[in-house]
Amino acid sequence: MNKSDSERIAGILSHFGYIETENEKEADLLIINTCSIRQLSADKAYSQLGVWGKMKKSKPHIKIGICGCVAQQDKDNIRKRAPYVDLVFGTHNIYELPALIKRIENDEKVCAITNNPVICNQNDFKIIRKNSVNAWIPIIEGCNNFCTYCVVPFTRGRERSRKPEEIICEAENIIKEGFKEITLLGQNVDSYGKDFNDKNITLANLLRELNKIEGKFRIRFVTSYPSDITDDLINAAAECEKVCKYFHIPMQSGNSRILKEMNRRYTKEEYYNIVSKIRNRFPLVTITSDFIAGFPGETEEEFQDTLKAIDELELDYSNTAAYSPRAFTKAGKMTDKFIPEPVKYERLERLNEKNREVCLKSNEKFIGKVLKVLVEAKTEKDGKIILNSRADNNKIVHFESDKYNIGDFVNVKITKAQTWCLYGEIEE
Ligand code: SF4
Repeated sequence: MNKSDSERIAGILSHFGYIETENEKEADLLIINTCSIRQLSADKAYSQLGVWGKMKKSKPHIKIGICGCVAQQDKDNIRKRAPYVDLVFGTHNIYELPALIKRIENDEKVCAITNNPVICNQNDFKIIRKNSVNAWIPIIEGCNNFCTYCVVPFTRGRERSRKPEEIICEAENIIKEGFKEITLLGQNVDSYGKDFNDKNITLANLLRELNKIEGKFRIRFVTSYPSDITDDLINAAAECEKVCKYFHIPMQSGNSRILKEMNRRYTKEEYYNIVSKIRNRFPLVTITSDFIAGFPGETEEEFQDTLKAIDELELDYSNTAAYSPRAFTKAGKMTDKFIPEPVKYERLERLNEKNREVCLKSNEKFIGKVLKVLVEAKTEKDGKIILNSRADNNKIVHFESDKYNIGDFVNVKITKAQTWCLYGEIEE
């Protein structure tokens, strides 16, 4: 979502004649788009601001901005910690940027943080997309779930869906421009449309509409909330040939007591049922997840339930993190239950080891199978051209070819599996 926001910010800035530079020393305007999901990312943002603050001492004309979740959450602190910052704008204020830029260009110090998003048609603003093959389309922003460890409902606000016609128009334009993949984004993508009070506006129906757009392209959607995955969504994924058979469904813990403490609205058993329903429907599907090690009060036995779940569910890949206390959250206040740092990081190490093990197993299942891949990049190794691609089920596949190019769909027979990727050869 942050990367997508950055593309939108770059598009808006281009209206003012700003051109992106790879060399920050050449820049007249520096903006850091921040994430506050874990303390480490927030710390990195402040450290980057410090570097830019020093640069500004020798080049006072430089304008420095900060946006995203750290800006939204820390608005009162930023000025104290980094008084040289010219512009602070929150997650709800991106589309006010044209006016904000004019003000900082007139040497005003600006802080634009609101809790009410600016309602506009996002298609009225230019987007400078970084990737020439895959385009991100945010369809819903914010979250109503209030998982006890998560800061997102406080920084991104409550759920707000974009109108289906606006999304379809953006998708049509993207396909006309030559993109081969669209990824629908949302903190909880399955909630799409619930705020419209129209039972026909759902993620499933949006997929059906997008699937009708002419052209050779595919559709992904992230992130799914386990108990919000409906039978209709699974049916839509099955009906629509352009929709990738890939589900990212964060489980967070394999223990039902911890899930309750996290305020996740499902039990371990319910999660297992969802996974088996999807696996029964799509034989080559890939299911990935997210897990937290060392949530407050988690016992060793409860942590072991997570390792067991990853094994039993044969998850294809998981994002993992040690629990990081966040401001405003309920779990952040459970200080008496915090797990000591060494225990937390030791659990994370075991979680990562389990993840590596199941990833390799998952990849090995594909040896001998033919996957349809989309070429995303080209590299050269030992005089040979290697194409880096991604299969419909999100597996990364490398193969040798001087015949195909970035943006081509190719059938590849898998010949070798490693932990994080597959290797194959063209199957004509
Ligand atoms: S569903 Fe995801 S974004 Fe929403 S509160 Fe829970 S973890 Fe955060």
